[in-house]
Amino acid sequence: MSNLVDPFGREVSYLRVSVTDRCNFRCTYCMGENMTFLPKADLLTLEELDRLCSAFIRRGVDKIRLTGGEPLVRRNIMSLIKSLGNQIKTGALKELTLTTNGSQLAKHADELAMCGIKRINVSLDTLDAEKFRTITRWGKLEDVTDGLAAAKEAGLEVKINAVALKDFNENEVDDLIAWCGEEGFDLTYIETMPLGEIEEDRTHQYLPLSILSERIHSKWTLENTSYDTGGPANYFTIKETGKRIGFITPLTHNFCESCNRVRLTCTGRLYMCLGQNNWKDLLTPLRMSEGDDLLMTSIDEAIGDKPKGHDFIIDRTGSAPAVSRHMSVTGG
Ligand code: SAM
Ligand code: SF4
Repeated sequence: MSNLVDPFGREVSYLRVSVTDRCNFRCTYCMGENMTFLPKADLLTLEELDRLCSAFIRRGVDKIRLTGGEPLVRRNIMSLIKSLGNQIKTGALKELTLTTNGSQLAKHADELAMCGIKRINVSLDTLDAEKFRTITRWGKLEDVTDGLAAAKEAGLEVKINAVALKDFNENEVDDLIAWCGEEGFDLTYIETMPLGEIEEDRTHQYLPLSILSERIHSKWTLENTSYDTGGPANYFTIKETGKRIGFITPLTHNFCESCNRVRLTCTGRLYMCLGQNNWKDLLTPLRMSEGDDLLMTSIDEAIGDKPKGHDFIIDRTGSAPAVSRHMSVTGG
């Protein structure tokens, strides 16, 4: 079966799967405090998610990232991870990864490594326990640091994702870089993206990475690297620590030319672009027949609709999001 190539000649080889919209945290930039989540009955079963992922793998997708919401709070998630892990063993899948808030890693790190996961992304915006509680509303820093220790012990490579937040963590940048160096973690700063209604004004949270990056450049030696994921991050090696630092700047730079990814939600919607609202329903063709012919046709139609680029803007006058769904729906 042919690989997936969009109308702009970009090969789609990377699938991000949001396995749940639920989370045990309520990060202020990501969710409101009182969220209405999807009824459990609307969710694809783990077997259906597995079938969908396998269809994409047959069409040339060789990298899958599980995300959410918090992927590790979905009941029985390890069964999906095990099954996808088997596709690494056969060579059908080159990489299976996970983006997590880290709070459940102490429980799962060993098993994740056994399933063939080599690298994970863990979101951590601050090393200050009080501030951590403030930004996640419900989280405990110690759970995450314990989880990170377990991940290291299990031999998982870790990249820390930190959202750059004005007047919140901009003064902690040097500490976080030094700490990541000591722990052996790569680090990526993410600019806030206007996804979904939250309780705060996004213009208050928005810190352009150009400012942060300038500050980092003045203190650390950043060396260019050829490392490229086809995604929106720009990577450098920090000479002093030997670890990588990346900057994800969807609002200030255009990264769409090299976009190799699509995003699947836990209800079977396929989003062709993080910054656009159009999606394709894959649940109906999946459930309509036992064979995958209908599903493959729908996947082809979806890829044929992948837009050239995104439309993000942070409105200077208010907090109206450019894209109305929350990041926890598509997982970022
Ligand atoms: N719960 C997991 C976690 O926090 O890593 C996975 C899902 S979370 C939605 C994925 C990433 O999106 C996290 O690194 C989080 O910090 C980031 N994120 C969430 N909302 C965002 C927003 N509005 N702008 C930029 N990044 C955001
Ligand atoms: Fe949960 Fe991740 Fe969103 Fe935080 S960023 S609320 S941990 S899904």
